[in-house]
Amino acid sequence: MGIASEENAAGADGPVARAPEGAAERPSGAVRPAALSPSRAGDFMQCPLLYRFRVIDKLPEKPSAAATRGTVVHSVLERLFDAPAAERTAPRAKGLVPGEWEKLLAARPQLAELFRREDGSHDGDRLATWLADAERLVERWFTLEDPTRLEPADRELYVETVIEGAGGDGAGLTLRGFIDRVDVAPTGDIRIVDYKTGKAPAPQYRDGALFQMTFYALVMWRLRGRMPRRLQLVYLGSGDVLTYDPAEAELLAVERKLRALWEAIELATDTGDWRPRPTKLCGWCDHQAVCPEFGGTPPPYPLPVVAQRAGQVTPAGAAQGRMDAV
Ligand code: SF4
Repeated sequence: MGIASEENAAGADGPVARAPEGAAERPSGAVRPAALSPSRAGDFMQCPLLYRFRVIDKLPEKPSAAATRGTVVHSVLERLFDAPAAERTAPRAKGLVPGEWEKLLAARPQLAELFRREDGSHDGDRLATWLADAERLVERWFTLEDPTRLEPADRELYVETVIEGAGGDGAGLTLRGFIDRVDVAPTGDIRIVDYKTGKAPAPQYRDGALFQMTFYALVMWRLRGRMPRRLQLVYLGSGDVLTYDPAEAELLAVERKLRALWEAIELATDTGDWRPRPTKLCGWCDHQAVCPEFGGTPPPYPLPVVAQRAGQVTPAGAAQGRMDAV
């Protein structure tokens, strides 16, 4: 799931996200949330105010070397399958790294900042080290999977589906994102594969990664009418492969969780009440300067605040707090 690795709080699919975040444009440039991806769902569960800053205010974030490396590695692993099976070798894959970096840089010239010294000059040594790290991650993949024996059904697959009847007005919830790789066995069994360029989390911290995978399993189930048989996380940072075989009841529980999450997001959008939720992940947040938890003041709320109807609107903080337990 391209939605990718999570070397920092945003993950490699955070500010360098490949998934378009659904949003209805307003004349002011501010946006009302119109769809949900696993990354942004994770943002809201981590900190509702962070979600607001990213989705509604669209505040800029500094590029991250780790996140950018994740994007390059994902591109290499996707491109490698363009070659005939026998030619999908580690040297060939490593050789793709500089070119994929150049392509990304051409699309996002601001990434050059990552390799600039304080005096503004280009830091070639830092770039070389960074590229070598990316090559090491690519090479490690060959110890975990054998691309000469794989014929993916899809790579970087954009998926989108609507959960009918979700949301306060029952208009439905659009779920969307990119899946890194989909393998389909001759039996028709579906395997969803996600590459992570970070390390495998300790067992007690695996819920976030599993949430992302079950989110995609639910979307694929809805799209194809067949529940994925296996979800596979490939951690290139630590050389681990985690697999998970979802049960129907678990995916239905994910759907209920997403419905509740979307209601909470809609409520916060209408009331303008986005609560900060400080955790140790604040250390990775680019928005401390405008966060009340760090003495800052958020920018004026750019969307209209809808009048609350007495007795029918749950206080936003309560709904937001509830998501931890959903
Ligand atoms: S600094 Fe922490 S509490 Fe504030 S917006 Fe960022 S993640 Fe939320």
